[in-house]
Amino acid sequence: MYHTFLIKYGEIGIKGKNRHVFEDALAKQIRLKLSKLDGEYEIRHERGRVYVECSGEWDEGETVDALQHVFGIVGICPVHTYPTEGPDELKAAVVDYIAQEYPDSHATFKVKVRRVDKEFPGTSMEIAAALGEAILQNFPNMKVDVHNPDILLDIEIRDTVYVYSRIIPGPGGMPVGTNGSAMLCLSGGIDSPVAGWMIAKRGVVLDAVYFHAPPYTSDRAKEKVVDLARQVAKYAGPIRLHIVNFTDVQLAIYDTCPHEELTIIMRRYMMKIAEHFAVKNGNLGLITGESIGQVASQTMQSLLTTNAVCTLPVYRPLIGMDKNEIVDISLKIGTYETSILPYEDCCTIFVAKHPVTRPILEVIEKSEAKLKGQIEELVQTAIDTTEIIVAKP
Ligand code: ATP
Ligand code: MG
Repeated sequence: MYHTFLIKYGEIGIKGKNRHVFEDALAKQIRLKLSKLDGEYEIRHERGRVYVECSGEWDEGETVDALQHVFGIVGICPVHTYPTEGPDELKAAVVDYIAQEYPDSHATFKVKVRRVDKEFPGTSMEIAAALGEAILQNFPNMKVDVHNPDILLDIEIRDTVYVYSRIIPGPGGMPVGTNGSAMLCLSGGIDSPVAGWMIAKRGVVLDAVYFHAPPYTSDRAKEKVVDLARQVAKYAGPIRLHIVNFTDVQLAIYDTCPHEELTIIMRRYMMKIAEHFAVKNGNLGLITGESIGQVASQTMQSLLTTNAVCTLPVYRPLIGMDKNEIVDISLKIGTYETSILPYEDCCTIFVAKHPVTRPILEVIEKSEAKLKGQIEELVQTAIDTTEIIVAKP
């Protein structure tokens, strides 16, 4: 059995002078993730490679699953290690590897050798040819195919010999913590958890804000959002979730403003409050799950009108995606089943039959002006009474 993983990372390998910063961040995230498991793990990085050595009570499936939740990892390769000795021992090692990983295999293969230990006799090409021959002799059902092999056998000769061929895909992206933080507007829907995941994937730490309207929205609706935050946290790390009681702000808007403008005005107040917390936390942007034209509040005019209240950049990673594309990601990251639970959302409770689809900023501002004198205090109270929960994986 193997007990080492070679971690492949794409983009962060090409960051020039900052490279070690990214590698350190990746190693840190891996360490953090694996520290929750029963096994013992040692993470080493040397010469552009990160290795995870497993010992103790480690479980293969659990370890791979944990690594598949670390952004920055492109591939997870189970590696067999052998002592670096002579050419004969190397042949025996490779034969042992095939016997363990591909018993009775009818497959084509190619051998790729990297001779880092320059003391080892022969060129990389010569060593590869000799190993190919040894495999053919020992496994009559295997054939060489240098162009399109079923099995690409990677062999690295260093102070230890590393042999691997399987690459389990990782989530890609960049290690969390390498790109500042942002405030995710997290509702109970399908879109916003995916939006948060996509930004976290680029190395951004997430905070989140959820607006609810008790008693119009239930505790179960709130629990659902906490659950979603926990699911995103499996990738993004702990998320500080701000739970804002939005009822009185919504009721004031409902009592004072034209009903077809309710959603858009409510969205503007959400964004204002979200930005308040973002600034307080030092977040560098806001994140929403909006996508052009998906609903009335996401037409280009609506987006312009909502955006007008924000000074921080608003990141909308789903902006050009269709619903089915968003659903595919939510299935992949494990948020879909929770997102479709049928609990009420504060946006849908006070919604008009015919919301404006082409709001005009000046008109909306005029309607909002009527809220003056009462809304400031309601917003302040909403801010002051906000509950903060740390959602952990
Ligand atoms: P989602 O599937 O993310 O709920 P949606 O299709 O329901 O999105 P809207 O209700 O228009 O769309 O919301 C657009 C975006 O506004 C959401 O993606 C989310 O970022 C934010 N948002 C909506 N409702 C809330 C809420 N109750 N709390 C926090 N953010 C919200
Ligand atoms: Mg929604």
